[in-house]
Amino acid sequence: MSKKLLLKDAHIEGIRYFETYRKQGGYGAAEKALKMTPDEILEEVKASGLRGRGGAGFPTGMKWSFLAKPEGVPRHLVVNADESEPGTFKDRYLMEFLPHLLIEGMLISSYCLGSNVSYIYIRGEYSWIPDILEEAIEEAKAAGFLGKNIMGTGFDCEIYVQRGGGAYICGEETALLESLEGKRGNPRLKPPFPAVKGLWERPTVVNNVESIAAIVPIIDITGAEYAKIGVGRSTGTKLISACGNINKPGVYEIDMTITVEEFIYSDEYCGGIKDGKKLKACIPGGSSVPIVPANLLLKTVNGEPRYMNYESLADGGFATGTMMGSGGFIVLDEDQCIVEHTMTLARFYNHESCGQCTPCREGTGWMYKILKKIEKGEGKMEDIDLLWDIQRKIEGNTICPLGDAAAWPVAAAIRHFRDEFEWHIKNPELSQTQNYGLAHY
Ligand code: SF4
Repeated sequence: MSKKLLLKDAHIEGIRYFETYRKQGGYGAAEKALKMTPDEILEEVKASGLRGRGGAGFPTGMKWSFLAKPEGVPRHLVVNADESEPGTFKDRYLMEFLPHLLIEGMLISSYCLGSNVSYIYIRGEYSWIPDILEEAIEEAKAAGFLGKNIMGTGFDCEIYVQRGGGAYICGEETALLESLEGKRGNPRLKPPFPAVKGLWERPTVVNNVESIAAIVPIIDITGAEYAKIGVGRSTGTKLISACGNINKPGVYEIDMTITVEEFIYSDEYCGGIKDGKKLKACIPGGSSVPIVPANLLLKTVNGEPRYMNYESLADGGFATGTMMGSGGFIVLDEDQCIVEHTMTLARFYNHESCGQCTPCREGTGWMYKILKKIEKGEGKMEDIDLLWDIQRKIEGNTICPLGDAAAWPVAAAIRHFRDEFEWHIKNPELSQTQNYGLAHY
């Protein structure tokens, strides 16, 4: 059984409220942190090996150490709660059921970074959660954990919640900052990076909800102890939101030592494939990461078990090329059609492209049109090569990672499931009435 750090109290009734959270030892880590120096906290975060839980997996301590500290210029912490990646809903769970864990993590992080005004930028579709967060902020303030001169330390901190307008691109950190400044959420060219010029051109750290919540157990048990959980550079615990054709969709906390097979089939987690069907493929880290067929998902190319961690999921290079990503674990059973699935994703990325760069603006729409044609049985064999060519021209040639996110699913689908594309093209009549999965199993 995986060790629980973030969700250990999630089952307790009323844990959403300050009184219950405090009774369980809540804000104990904040009290401990406020007696430390900001540099000591930073050392703990570095020692923990925590990697950003939003998708990129960049070491959090290193990110914090890049923060510029020019004299007299305010600095900010911005929590990225714009959780819009299809298949990902673990931050929603944290904010809805454990809002004080996030607020406590923000207090410690703000103190460490020297942010007197910090923000939570939350996706517009999570319409009921800002009220929960604002209530938690008011409770923390009433108890002296936010506001002026917190715990007599002389440190002041206010937290504000900003609702987004429902654009996926605002999950990209610089687009988020633009939106937070009241502008259209277009990603910025980097450099300068937010650590130097972020919100209102001030040094800013942007971190994911889960990353900031993880600061609480890190301070609680120390960075060194946190680093002992997990394996290699995949330290601590990770929240996984599991969905698709499984018996038990939900949010699970894992310690990254379990195998993918155990995660999918054990009753403790996904409980196996629904209706006793066969596993066909999985997208292990949110819709942007490459899809992996069952044979490579359960075993590495060397025949070793594949584990639910950053290194093992990416292992295999060209063979899998996938990632832990945001932890949005999407399972597809044998009945699913990969062409249809890829077309749905292409439509999503085309719709969400901000339109600033030509390869993304034009390429995503072009890929969607070709995929739609193939899926309807109106494609030609050369369309597969054209699709491959377009995704190659998008990848690495855009301002922000949305271009890569749109290209990778198409590349992986063609690499692993070319036969399905060919089936649609060779069987135009059949592909109009049934999908590849249902026709083949
Ligand atoms: Fe906008 Fe796409 Fe360019 Fe990102 S890659 S800046 S979403 S056009």
